[in-house]
Amino acid sequence: MAQAGFKTTPVDCHHNKHVPRTQVLILDLTNPTDQTTLKNLIKSSPTFAIHIALPCGTGSRARERPIARHLLQQGAPQPVPLRSAEHLLGLPGLTASDARRVELSNQLAKFTVDLIELAMTLGFFISIENPENSWMWGVLCHYVLAKKSVKLSKFWNDLIAVNFANCAHGGERDKKTKFLCSRDWLASMALPCPKNHVHKPFTLKKTTAGWRFDTAQEGEYPVLLCERYAECLQRHSNFITHSSADPNRIPSNIQQTKRHPQLIPEYHRVVFSDSPPKADHKLLLPANGGENGAKAKYGKNHTPEQFVKFAKTLVHPFDIEHRVPDVLRRNIHDVLSGGVQKLVDFRVKESKRLAQLKHELRYEEARMHATLPAHAKIVLKGKSLVLLQHLLKEQQFPDLDICDLMKGVDLVGKATKSPLFADKVVPATTSPEMLLQSSQGSNEKILGRDVHQSEPDLARCGRQL
Ligand SMILES: [Zn+2]
Repeated sequence: MAQAGFKTTPVDCHHNKHVPRTQVLILDLTNPTDQTTLKNLIKSSPTFAIHIALPCGTGSRARERPIARHLLQQGAPQPVPLRSAEHLLGLPGLTASDARRVELSNQLAKFTVDLIELAMTLGFFISIENPENSWMWGVLCHYVLAKKSVKLSKFWNDLIAVNFANCAHGGERDKKTKFLCSRDWLASMALPCPKNHVHKPFTLKKTTAGWRFDTAQEGEYPVLLCERYAECLQRHSNFITHSSADPNRIPSNIQQTKRHPQLIPEYHRVVFSDSPPKADHKLLLPANGGENGAKAKYGKNHTPEQFVKFAKTLVHPFDIEHRVPDVLRRNIHDVLSGGVQKLVDFRVKESKRLAQLKHELRYEEARMHATLPAHAKIVLKGKSLVLLQHLLKEQQFPDLDICDLMKGVDLVGKATKSPLFADKVVPATTSPEMLLQSSQGSNEKILGRDVHQSEPDLARCGRQL
């Protein structure tokens, strides 16, 4: 999705055995705090689409297939079904660990329904993925009904099912998957097996890490599937990605790079068809069946009228991205119109005023420094923090939280949101626990660098930290 030009926030949990190909925001969505974090994130930034790959392990019908006797004799596990039509939320008499897995999976399904409800309210696109015959569809339905909302039940009933064979989109095994979507944008993905290939078998293998089912391996999305999904959404996002951009943002340059969405998409529309469209077009996939053996892909060119109409909806980057802020504009005017002497007088007057202010605040400054923890006292010795705070208030600086920042903050965790910057969630690549685990090695590296040679106090303080 990121390659297709979308700004993405992939979310995953710690226990995923698969290796994500991108950085992910680590959240445990069975945990109410993390659930709220995600919901707030969705509400606070313009959200275009959400895709939920609900873990299907506890709802898999593959659990109902018997394991070959020769494998059982070698010690292979025989998974037992954990759910049934009568017991969607978990069969009675499960082992403690299975019951726990089912319970966590139920919580995820329940939260998925919260997200479906959010999609209904906020109007973003939502798609949920699971095997076509998974019990999880019934579990989701259960939680939708439990909400006792006529509006939500109708929204749920109106969701569009897109059933497809994984192998039609680059998968290697015969697996039938379903996307349940709030709009028909993925309709072109509803493809059966093209029957022009041999499926890899679903096997159970003994590995160094224990017995492994290929079903787990097939859980990863093939690249082609991701590309097609992104393509489908791209077709409906042209206007949205531009209109949701913050007109006040000032990027560092205005060059259009590949990372930004195209200002005008190359094609007016991309269509899948057996025969070429009548309009002016370009063949995007080989005509002999394309990659799925069924259809070819054509990019319909814009007509001059369509192109101009689209271009008129765009704002020229110069109009929004190279603005001179008002305060700077005022200063340039004052300097140019007042001349050198006026500027010198102003600066002398201001520096006298600041010195006077510093003098007046000296007792308050000393009191504040006395409240600091010992290690902060050393670092902040001689710094006029109260004076700075005073000046920030005087200038009506929008982010007074930086005064707390000066007194020291935790290196990890969540900071308060500064009004100075737009929302930009950088997915965590590690966790505080993992950071601690790796700290022994990194501490040695840091201490090895003697950056405070001339300040022994500071060096000692750093070592104590
Ligand atoms: Zn196939």
